[in-house]
Amino acid sequence: PTAVIWFRDDLRLQDHPGLQAAHRAGFAPLPVYIHAPHEEGEWAPGAASNAWRHRSLAALDAALRARGSRLHVFAGDSLATLKAITTATEAAAVYWSRCHEPAAARRDEAVRRALRARGLRADAWNAHLLFEPWQLETKAGDPFRVFTPFWNAARRAWSPPAPVPAPDLLPTFSPLPGETTLDALGLAPDIRWDAGFWAHWTPGEAGADAALQAFIADGLHDYPRGRDHPARRLTSRLSPHLHFGEISPWRIVHALQEAGPVEARAAFVRELAWREFAVHVLHHFPHTQDANFNARFDDFAWSAVDPALLRAWQRGRTGVPIVDAGMREMQATGWMHNRVRMVVASYLTKHLRLHWLHGARWFWDQLVDADLANNTQGWQWVAGTGVDAAPYFRIFNPVLQARKFDPAGEYIACWVPELRELPSKARHAPWEVPTGSRPTGLYPARPIVDLAEGRASALEALKRIRVPV
Ligand code: FAD
Repeated sequence: PTAVIWFRDDLRLQDHPGLQAAHRAGFAPLPVYIHAPHEEGEWAPGAASNAWRHRSLAALDAALRARGSRLHVFAGDSLATLKAITTATEAAAVYWSRCHEPAAARRDEAVRRALRARGLRADAWNAHLLFEPWQLETKAGDPFRVFTPFWNAARRAWSPPAPVPAPDLLPTFSPLPGETTLDALGLAPDIRWDAGFWAHWTPGEAGADAALQAFIADGLHDYPRGRDHPARRLTSRLSPHLHFGEISPWRIVHALQEAGPVEARAAFVRELAWREFAVHVLHHFPHTQDANFNARFDDFAWSAVDPALLRAWQRGRTGVPIVDAGMREMQATGWMHNRVRMVVASYLTKHLRLHWLHGARWFWDQLVDADLANNTQGWQWVAGTGVDAAPYFRIFNPVLQARKFDPAGEYIACWVPELRELPSKARHAPWEVPTGSRPTGLYPARPIVDLAEGRASALEALKRIRVPV
């Protein structure tokens, strides 16, 4: 009998619970991908994410072909497609890895019921997390709203499964009715705006393993001290690989066991736990995908959108070098360093006082690691509207942040070439440089919003909603 393996954000063959379950039951696994972005509600994948997915699916297909199988690609409604496939192959089971985005989770539940009603085994597995979002709870049996107790509970319950290698050989299936090709899905952009991305990334399982090994060799050692310095490139860059399920978190945890100093491992695993916490929060509070967790902020006086200001932020032309460097890094590579994500998000929600959703949506389209749980939580954390958030009144000063975390202005010089000729200490705030030695050319002569005025007006708006501080 056949088991359909319905691949989604679990694009790997190692540590794949559905494949393992099929093997245990003696089923022949039929690998299937169904393109159905309309089933993801308001958060259908963005452009950078699609470009990554195209390559990741191609890598999965190549890995399957090396084992005698291949990826069978479809487009359309998931349930209708699965019904047709299971009928055509007389399959006994459909297996998939759980998604926790609210729209996908609802869709999956409907699929499960409908397939079971047809007498099929329809089972979902955890391929994405160290802890399912319902697994950890407070002593009172509630979801966690604060990270540190969540992390303490996670450490107490710690038991990551052992990694399992990919199967050596897989069976071959004839083409099925209604199959299409990966290229026909239109995930890869026609205009090659993503051309620059691929010098930085190798989507797919092999690329994920290589990124992990590179991090263990070069980044882990100095991770606790260096992770906040964007020019040092010390972080793992595993986020897109994790989002697409090209590597399991437990494979990462196991690989770290034998590597690097204890504090470095602990600091890194704590970041992985932030990812778990984000999914926990989104699962228990699904409305936070586009609404404030802290309802007091529903009355906050966000500014009306000034398209010119929003565009300047999006395109890295605010005149604030660290902000512009981050936005340009994202445009050029599909990724931005975490410290700089916080700075650009604070600048948008506080100095420009624009609703965090304007930023979240732009990130959604631009990031190769765009992830609903992490992105929503990241934005709400910075905006002060989320669980366990930075208080709104704590407004990052982008110049001080740049001086502290990019002291020699190397990161700025890398992404804002207009400022390269300035002495390194002058790159953080070029408007302070005497007029004669300022960069001429196209870079804004002054920030588009005065930093002190932006800060004062944000604090004034905050006072009006009387958020306790
Ligand atoms: P590392 O430092 O090597 O961390 C390892 C892994 O831990 C990451 O790959 C990631 O999966 C997880 N992680 C690290 N930091 C965080 C965090 N703060 N929250 C949740 N998980 C974390 N991350 C995304 O994966 N997708 C997003 O769409 C996303 N949007 C964000 C938006 C904002 C405004 C902010 C402030 C943060 C956002 N993050 C997002 C979190 C974080 O910036 C990235 O996960 C991190 O920069 C990825 O780089 P890395 O893999 O080198 O991280």
